[in-house]
Amino acid sequence: MRQRNKPWAKDKLVQYPQYVISEPEKNKGKWKEAFDKDQPIHIEIGTGKGRFITGMAKANPDINYIGIELADSVIVTALDRIIEDELPNIKLLNVNANDLRDYFEKGEVNRVYLNFSDPWPKKRHAKRRLTYRSFLEIYEEILVDKGEIHFKTDNQGLFESSLMSFSDYDILLTYVSLDLHNSDYEGNIMTEYEEKFSSRGSRIFRCEVQYR
Ligand code: SAM
Repeated sequence: MRQRNKPWAKDKLVQYPQYVISEPEKNKGKWKEAFDKDQPIHIEIGTGKGRFITGMAKANPDINYIGIELADSVIVTALDRIIEDELPNIKLLNVNANDLRDYFEKGEVNRVYLNFSDPWPKKRHAKRRLTYRSFLEIYEEILVDKGEIHFKTDNQGLFESSLMSFSDYDILLTYVSLDLHNSDYEGNIMTEYEEKFSSRGSRIFRCEVQYR
């Protein structure tokens, strides 16, 4: 995600505590209370500018969404979308996914979305991929039993290494598409990256996996 320096972004994020949770560790074990309605929680890691998660929140009012994004300069655009649409079923966390255990209790999250995660193509950076084993352990610790990860990317190398990571972890592969936009999958909501790369002719890979 292209990150322009926005020195004002941090200040803006703190002005909307109804949408941006600044001390998420205080909500650990109590996320149900943070939303108007007690309903399943789906999180997206690396939310970027929020096109996907705000689209999902609009399309699925019976789900609560939490967007997790490291970069304040991009998550602030996700905040703008939420403010504009006054979405009651979405919160944002400007934090690193490495620390998710500090913010969620076991079983608080029903599904994890990973969309166009940074590919980290060099072997020596493999541990930074959000589908690396250490991240799969973190997700398992916060997900419900038999929780799911839904993952899509245009990067074939990342997709292949992720499938191997899921397989090594013995996670069940329940859906796979090697060309999402030419498949019969319905209800796809595009991310910023997906829109950009698919318009340039890139193929989109997608899978769903479930912990046993
Ligand atoms: N999902 C968006 C999309 O498809 O348009 C953004 C994709 S962008 C390539 C990846 C995003 O993940 C970046 O905004 C980056 O800051 C964020 N990110 C990477 N590692 C992260 C981490 N450990 N925790 C939270 N966000 C992370």
